[in-house]
Amino acid sequence: MLNMQTTQRTTQEWQQLDAAHHMHPFSDMGSLNKAGSRVITRAKGVYLWDSNGNKIIDGMAGLWCVNVGYGRQELADAARDQMLELPYYNTFFKTTHPPVIELSQQLSELTPDGFNHFFYCNSGSEGNDTVLRIVHQYWAALGKPQRKVVISRINGYHGSTIAGASLGGMGYMHEQMPSKVENIVHIHQPYWYGEAAEGVTPEAFGKARAAELEAKILELGADNVAAFIGEPFQGAGGVIFPPESYWPEIQRICDKYGILLVADEVIGGFGRTGEWFAHQHFGFKPDIMTLAKGLTSGYVPMGAVAIHDKVALPIIEAGDFNHGMTYSGHPVAAAVALANIAILRDGGVVDQVKNETGPYFQKSLREALSSSPIIGEIHGTGLVAGMQLCEEKNPRKRFANGGDVGLICRDHCFGNNLIMRATGDRMLLSPPLVISRTEIDELVDKAARCIALTAKDLGY
Ligand SMILES: *Cc1c(COP(=O)(O)O)cnc(C)c1O
Repeated sequence: MLNMQTTQRTTQEWQQLDAAHHMHPFSDMGSLNKAGSRVITRAKGVYLWDSNGNKIIDGMAGLWCVNVGYGRQELADAARDQMLELPYYNTFFKTTHPPVIELSQQLSELTPDGFNHFFYCNSGSEGNDTVLRIVHQYWAALGKPQRKVVISRINGYHGSTIAGASLGGMGYMHEQMPSKVENIVHIHQPYWYGEAAEGVTPEAFGKARAAELEAKILELGADNVAAFIGEPFQGAGGVIFPPESYWPEIQRICDKYGILLVADEVIGGFGRTGEWFAHQHFGFKPDIMTLAKGLTSGYVPMGAVAIHDKVALPIIEAGDFNHGMTYSGHPVAAAVALANIAILRDGGVVDQVKNETGPYFQKSLREALSSSPIIGEIHGTGLVAGMQLCEEKNPRKRFANGGDVGLICRDHCFGNNLIMRATGDRMLLSPPLVISRTEIDELVDKAARCIALTAKDLGY
């Protein structure tokens, strides 16, 4: 911890220094520097405090990651103890260490049958880079190196390394990145509210969007396709839950053409939906999973790739796998992950999300918001939700300037000490999984108030 006696500065000093020296991720630094960043100084449970003493309820668990909430002594102790015992050693040259061994064993228990091998990195982005390496190595091991193409989705998010962003389908990121990883193609997202024609049911739309995968495979030739990757529900894209017809169809198509199915579980993993992994909520069976965020609840960086035996065993047979990071399987991160899993599992947090707080949150949110004239649809399960802003409810009509409406709403959130994210014309919530009923009441009340204020600004 910084020594606050000697480093205590005024908010204004912090903002000036931040503007002078700190480049923020995904930000327009010109306008941010003029306005000044909000300085977050401490946090506990589901609350943050800023340098002006405001207490803010964090409806986003940081960036979808602080699953066990802020200020957990168990995680701090695990990090400290591990730093004193063995702060670092690599796992490259015929060495290993207890934290990474224990974590791998525990992950093999938590993940579905057949997931028995785990490769570590430092983020979700690196996880998806690793996925590409694994997919290509797998097909090479099977003697089919021409199976190179990975199919992904427009408005999917898979991170911000070059490979992560190439896999993702966020146009504004691609524009700033003329060189992309090759052999990646995109199909459309299963976003019924935003993209289905009038009169098309979610059921039919889900099937139609899944059918795009089959059409793309046939266009490319199945023998050239390596894998399909998708988030079980799209997170950064707006908490978009696909229609129920979607994943079973995707599964069927991947099986039919022998294509690997990769679930990017970076947000969905570690209890967000009330299941340990979000694909379990949707009922499909991936071959590979990308993990990060909730793996360590964001206390220290760590990502991992879970590899099904079907994929792992041929790679292990094939010999050298030429991939790794200095910090792959970092002992401190692994120790924190173990303490985090202990809270989520033995502390009953994931069970609580499934059986108690998740259903309560979903019900409260719908009760508070369904009657709003500008809420067209609410998606979600467990402790994640996406709320569609709309100009008219029936027939459904989006705002022409939906992104601006989202920002109006977000400004009200800011003013009301609520962290709720705006993605275009969708408002997102994803609070820490330890949130209590009383805190859910506060979160939902504030969200409803901010949406009502937005509606009022727009003249409803
Ligand atoms: C956040 C995220 C990533 C990228 O993780 P980083 O740790 O930011 O690199 C990848 N996939 C999904 C689904 C994510 O939400």
